[in-house]
Amino acid sequence: MNHFPIFIATKGRSVVLSGGGEAALAKLRLLLKTEAGVTVFAPTPAPEIIRWAAEGRLVLAARALRAGDAKGATLFYAADEDAAEDARTSALARADGALVNIVDNLDDSTFITPAIVDRAPVTVAIGTEGAAPVLARSIKTALEEQLPARLGALARIGKAFRSKAEALPAGRGRRDFWADFFFGMGPVALENGGEQALRPALETLLDTHLGKEVSTGHVDLVGAGPGDPELLTLKARKALDHADVVIHDRLVAPEILELARREVVLLDVGKQGFGPSASQQDINTLMVRHAKAGARVVRLKAGDPAVFGRLDEEIEALDASGISWRIVPGITAASAAVAGIGQSLTRRGRNSSVRLLTGHDTKGFAEHDWRALARPGEVAAIYMGKASARFVQGRLLMHGADPATPVTVTENASRPSERVVATTLANLTADLTRAQLSGPALVLYGLAPRDACALTDTLQQKVLSQ
Ligand code: SAH
Repeated sequence: MNHFPIFIATKGRSVVLSGGGEAALAKLRLLLKTEAGVTVFAPTPAPEIIRWAAEGRLVLAARALRAGDAKGATLFYAADEDAAEDARTSALARADGALVNIVDNLDDSTFITPAIVDRAPVTVAIGTEGAAPVLARSIKTALEEQLPARLGALARIGKAFRSKAEALPAGRGRRDFWADFFFGMGPVALENGGEQALRPALETLLDTHLGKEVSTGHVDLVGAGPGDPELLTLKARKALDHADVVIHDRLVAPEILELARREVVLLDVGKQGFGPSASQQDINTLMVRHAKAGARVVRLKAGDPAVFGRLDEEIEALDASGISWRIVPGITAASAAVAGIGQSLTRRGRNSSVRLLTGHDTKGFAEHDWRALARPGEVAAIYMGKASARFVQGRLLMHGADPATPVTVTENASRPSERVVATTLANLTADLTRAQLSGPALVLYGLAPRDACALTDTLQQKVLSQ
């Protein structure tokens, strides 16, 4: 991010613009919506500019800009439609201390004006750092359609009520109140009774919220899915939106953590800093402590929390402390990995059951019913299987599995960095060593990527070896 978005207060400040043609008009239409004092320097101003000056909406100097004209200005726009004149005026304004924008000249500008969706006081600014104005425009159009035209009224009247709402406890008490207003009662009141119905509705809502008991904490045990943020459930999204504290594992993708509120307390319990990783006891203690303090806690786990997620230990700790909890399932790595290779986990006539295995458990390498798994057509998704690949391979071959059984290893399933190693039981360890996978990887025993001719180009590129 080179251009950092901020909103500049314009009340009582001065904005200076040089230019009198189309480019100047386009910027002035925007600037006249602000509360800034606008001064225009233009030897030949367009009729609109003359009219706006006559109406007192801006100050017009019908001459070229000179040194000192932009003194005290917060922003300066060079809209001269002439590169040499733009360079001259912007240099003068820069010397006068203003932030400078040169129309259609990104490189020499200190700031850029984003595409704007105006629902004042709600303003959405969209910037692409000049990379794709078309994209900015289409995002703007999409947002224009999505945001109700009367959003501004809700925000404006809500703003005037802010000081009264301070009677509610800071943090979640107030957030819940405003969420109820903007997404529940507010739009309904506006629809039924117009703007004048909003204030009384706010008063009633405040009474209801003031009457609520201070809520006790709660823990949502949420599946974050395999990494692609679009594979989050809507429930997981909502839980993140409302969370005060998010306790997450190392495997949870940063893009997903980004979705939480800005004020959220993010606790990474998979980090090296806690020792190799925080102990289960530490995690339980953290959840209980924050929930007891009244926080809405999201315990965010990769994939599905119920698959190799140590979920039961956490639930038992919460129960022991009398804290309410809920499980929000997620898409497990096995589902994402088979989706990536165009296969299904079960298939009529091939395998009517599928095993989810772990390569190692608390006692080291995990033992399974290898003989059953070694039969033709069986399928297993082996979690944490990289380190135990050699062990699993040895056990299966020992119990009579066909060395040519297909095995697919998917690293970073569903993420942009997804890689697929297609191999066989016989070549599993050699191919894994060669591929040097560093991310989380799932071993799919008994499955090969769907017939290469049916694969998309991207998938073919992902498949490293056959
Ligand atoms: N609860 C998780 C599994 C946790 S165990 C789930 O349902 O997916 C951690 C193991 O999950 C990793 O060692 C790896 O085998 C697998 N895993 C998790 N995310 C993965 C991903 N995006 N791609 C491949 N494997 C993944």
